[in-house]
Amino acid sequence: MSVTETKTSASPEMLKLIEAKRQGQAHSIDELSWFINHLSEIPDYQITAWLMATCINGLSDEETINLTKNMAYSGHVLTLKREAEHVHNDGHEHDKDNCHSIHVNHSRGFVDKHSTGGVGDKVTLVLAPILASLGFKISKFSGRSLGHTGGTIDKLETIPGFKTDLTMKQFEKQIKEIGIALASQSTEFAPADKRLYSLRDRTATVQSIPLIASSVMSKKIAGGADIVLLDVKVGSGAFMKDVKTAKELAKLMVKIGKAVNLNTKAILSNMDQPLGSAVGNGPELVEAISLLEGNCDNDLYELVMELASSIASTIEIDDVIRSGKAYVKFTEWIEAQGGDMSKIKEATSAKFFLEYRADQLGYVKELDALKIGQAIHELSYSPKADGSYDIDNAAGLWLKAKIGDEVHPGDILFAVQGNDEAALADTANKIIDAYLFSEHKVKKPKLVFKRYS
Ligand code: URA
Repeated sequence: MSVTETKTSASPEMLKLIEAKRQGQAHSIDELSWFINHLSEIPDYQITAWLMATCINGLSDEETINLTKNMAYSGHVLTLKREAEHVHNDGHEHDKDNCHSIHVNHSRGFVDKHSTGGVGDKVTLVLAPILASLGFKISKFSGRSLGHTGGTIDKLETIPGFKTDLTMKQFEKQIKEIGIALASQSTEFAPADKRLYSLRDRTATVQSIPLIASSVMSKKIAGGADIVLLDVKVGSGAFMKDVKTAKELAKLMVKIGKAVNLNTKAILSNMDQPLGSAVGNGPELVEAISLLEGNCDNDLYELVMELASSIASTIEIDDVIRSGKAYVKFTEWIEAQGGDMSKIKEATSAKFFLEYRADQLGYVKELDALKIGQAIHELSYSPKADGSYDIDNAAGLWLKAKIGDEVHPGDILFAVQGNDEAALADTANKIIDAYLFSEHKVKKPKLVFKRYS
């Protein structure tokens, strides 16, 4: 093909939308539904021109809500209801063939939880069994690790036998019988987001608050839950680096949720340092299980409590942890999805372990989550020639000293573990590079900045 040729002809209707957005004009509801309904016929170059114009000139809240609804109904929609009905709770009529309905006599609601991605974020592994023990139904489609941040699916796949490609029948059975079903993000849900996201990723148009909000919320709407808990991370290890933009995103997502009658709650949480002690698939799984066994004295517990207590009382949450009910629920869930609990210890134990100790007295001032996330990702994922990875699920980090902690000479700062001994010293150097010390006392950072509902 010569440089003057193009593969697909331009759509005149799309040209008008691009021009309008370039001039900062608003799109009507009909224009946005036309756009999403015709997405498969519009060439990439026109979609990306629109994405760039939108990135620069923005979308009003009304446009964002209309875009989100259309994206949500661009594929299959799960309806989690007690009564059979084919009108979603936002009143949007949709195709019966595209709708899978699950009807259960739930008492407290269907919950979906979303984190914008962080380092050491194993909250879902703990929150899901806690809420399910309290009578909520947890229905979640989850993603894999994105860059330096780990994905819930990757952590769960550390467990030998654990499957995430659930059929709708199995998903439904688990929701009814156990109260938790967690599957890998299906391309059948919100396929419009898949097309838009992959173009955004390649055209520097990911960083747009309305585009991020519509992307996240379209998948939540299609997932069918009636309660959505959003954890918007902010800080060095997060997608959102500053509180101002994180606030905008959280508020907009709650507004979209309200517009479609979803009980949506958002928190803004600190991601300047990793959450909890463990970073890496295996160690994070171990830390999550340890919390469910009653070891609650850390910031992971604080964040789990923050999210859970937005829909349940702290007394009942503590009760299901202390009584072991949440742990039992976790094992039921893992076993229902094929995981072998008896093999977790072996799967998460590494051959090599390296401790790093402080050489002088001081206080931890910074602990760069981004540097840590990148170092542990490199330790755990070795690229292969075919573009896939060799994964060491036992590889990872245990942080003993976090921001605000006082350290004395000889105290352990952290330990790294893995099956590649040669790589551990290099990783330990990268981790120590993420630390900054002060000779003066340092205040422990706030974990939760804001709450929205
Ligand atoms: N995660 C999403 O699902 N969508 C975005 O646009 C960004 C992060």
